[in-house]
Amino acid sequence: MAAGRTESPRVASALAALEHASLRRTPQRLAIVKAFVDDPTHPTAQQIFDRLKRSMPTMSFATVYNTLAALEKAGSCRVLRVHDDGSARFDPRVDPHDHAICDRCGAVRDLESKNRKTTTTELEDGFHVRAVERVYRGLCAECSQ
Ligand SMILES: [Zn+2]
Ligand SMILES: [Zn+2]
Repeated sequence: MAAGRTESPRVASALAALEHASLRRTPQRLAIVKAFVDDPTHPTAQQIFDRLKRSMPTMSFATVYNTLAALEKAGSCRVLRVHDDGSARFDPRVDPHDHAICDRCGAVRDLESKNRKTTTTELEDGFHVRAVERVYRGLCAECSQ
């Protein structure tokens, strides 16, 4: 760890997950993790790549994708496929939560649901419920103006 620099707990745990997946800590992977873990916009791998390539011109898309895929495999993030095009959006939050998705611009944001049911229940056909997550579709504040 770099001296004098404190990493947020989310960055630290993501880096630990990568190390567990035998991915060495490199400046590029650190930049990917930092760009991603506090991002509430549910970006695609392409969006993270586009954001980072200006400051890291030698970075490849494969590095971004493989880093995110390793985080997902380790349970440090998850993939949402909530758009009609099937695009993979990466979500640094792994706890159950609801999403609002804009029909026009495709923006995804988290919703804090106050009365979230956390008890595990069973449906009539014997299906065991692990989590209930809703998707709200409509227009975001900018698009509805
Ligand atoms: Zn929108
Ligand atoms: Zn989310």
